[in-house]
Amino acid sequence: MGWVVSIDSAKCTGDGNCKDACPADVYEIKNKIAVAVNVAECLGCESCVEACEVGAIKVTEE
Ligand code: SF4
Repeated sequence: MGWVVSIDSAKCTGDGNCKDACPADVYEIKNKIAVAVNVAECLGCESCVEACEVGAIKVTEE
């Protein structure tokens, strides 16, 4: 079992709030878009979902 992190790149503003909120260092900001580069480390805590001001992130169980 793992977690799937989906980022709506059309909504993402690249502000990095998800990266700052994530305790597992899952995110990098590349070309002003958040990318879940380290999704294997995701804890499913949804801190990133709460931190995202534009509702661009969904975290679901695999
Ligand atoms: S759910 Fe938690 S651990 Fe997973 S990417 Fe979001 S903030 Fe990081």
